[in-house]
Amino acid sequence: MSSVDQLRKDLVGLHDQLIRWGLVVWTAGNVSARVPGEDLFVIKPSGVSYDELTPESMVVCDLDGQLVEGDFAPSSDTAAHAYVYREMPEVGGVVHTHSTYATAWAARGEPVPCVLTAMADEFGAEIPIGPFALIGGDDIGKGIVATLRGHRSPAVLMQNHGVFTIGKSAKAAVKAAVMCEDVARTVHIARQLGEPLPIAQSDIDKLYDRYQNVYGQR
Ligand SMILES: [Zn+2]
Repeated sequence: MSSVDQLRKDLVGLHDQLIRWGLVVWTAGNVSARVPGEDLFVIKPSGVSYDELTPESMVVCDLDGQLVEGDFAPSSDTAAHAYVYREMPEVGGVVHTHSTYATAWAARGEPVPCVLTAMADEFGAEIPIGPFALIGGDDIGKGIVATLRGHRSPAVLMQNHGVFTIGKSAKAAVKAAVMCEDVARTVHIARQLGEPLPIAQSDIDKLYDRYQNVYGQR
């Protein structure tokens, strides 16, 4: 199986994960994956419901977001994904959702403070806010890259809009989107009865380093 065919298949399963973890309604969320070694990525088609996604329905675009292969128009967020792949060569996957709790923080333009050890592990910092930007051109992509370049967090909350996450792979970007919603929800709930306690920066650094470099199966 070619790497494009494998990615088409992987993306069906990863879009199922968006449903499974309650990150999307209707068709408002998408996952893409860079084709290794080529200036191409695979992304969800526009406006196709999650139940109808098949490997064949996924579309292949170049790094300018132009359709290269596929029967459907690419996701309306394709320009943002393409901009990230152009500017951040280390990124292999991008996810966009309007998941509820994270997007509520985005609506207030407030970063999620790093007050949970799980958040220090995965994000290593607050989850930052990106600028308000309209869909269509490169503005959303520019805002994502300007916010995440040099930041530990793989997630950005685009103001008044929603979540974009990046990862070494599409699966890693989906994991970041799931974790982003989870910590946004917990910190939101914690706030209802008081102010969450801060974690010292030196402890955030230790947790992040351990989780990123030591934890799990090696
Ligand atoms: Zn959106």
